[in-house]
Amino acid sequence: MDTLWSSMVKRKQEITFQKNIFLWVRVKRKVFLGCNMSSIVLFGPPGAGKGTQATAIMGKTGLPQVSTGDMLRAALSKGTDLGLEAKEYMEAGKLVPDELILLLIEERLKEKDAENGVLFDGFPRTIPQAESLSKITDVSMVISIEVPDENIVERIVGRRMDPETGEIFHVKFKPAPSEIKNRLIQRKDDTEETVRSRLNAYHSQTAPLAGFYQELGVLKIINGNQNIVDVTNSIIELLV
Ligand code: ADP
Repeated sequence: MDTLWSSMVKRKQEITFQKNIFLWVRVKRKVFLGCNMSSIVLFGPPGAGKGTQATAIMGKTGLPQVSTGDMLRAALSKGTDLGLEAKEYMEAGKLVPDELILLLIEERLKEKDAENGVLFDGFPRTIPQAESLSKITDVSMVISIEVPDENIVERIVGRRMDPETGEIFHVKFKPAPSEIKNRLIQRKDDTEETVRSRLNAYHSQTAPLAGFYQELGVLKIINGNQNIVDVTNSIIELLV
């Protein structure tokens, strides 16, 4: 009983200490760097609709979208060292090592359009990534889009992209107009087998972040298992 009580007290002290550190970093950034950067994180399992909803959030907030998945795919198609190193992880549905992701993020946040904050999509995905992020930018809101696992596989396996516009379609839920159907492509990691590994990675490494942000008081939960417009409206309500 005593040990349980003392471990609870210890955990509470750790949380308070962590909150104070975040507050201190925030004040330091504002006072010493004159920087008032505040970002939003879109959080949720693969296929939750983060990319789709990012468009609406960008429109409402003016924050640019920073998708680590898109950045990694761009690095891979350019054949950079980082892209080639990330390839095997992505194709196996595993997370790319934190060091590589943090390099990408640090570079991206130096760009001019990121100076007032960004909309993160697919980042952070591990506790160490979230801890590193807290030293670079203030996170004002984490929007968690929740979708049950049983719906994810069907969503992802039927997902298609228009390579010309980047628009995402779904063979059943959002069919593309017939004139562009033939040019649609499917992501290499959108197979049933890879989706199952991505879901495993999500549950073991990423889902614990919900608790991390809940303790910091910035987590907002959205039911992602409704139609696209209803999800968008629920998100917009959080932003007004
Ligand atoms: P989804 O959310 O649909 O799984 P993404 O496009 O966000 O897809 O990411 C594709 C892949 O890129 C992931 O499965 C993973 O291998 C890698 N990846 C993207 N973002 C991160 C990240 N923050 N940390 C580690 N790996 C990442």
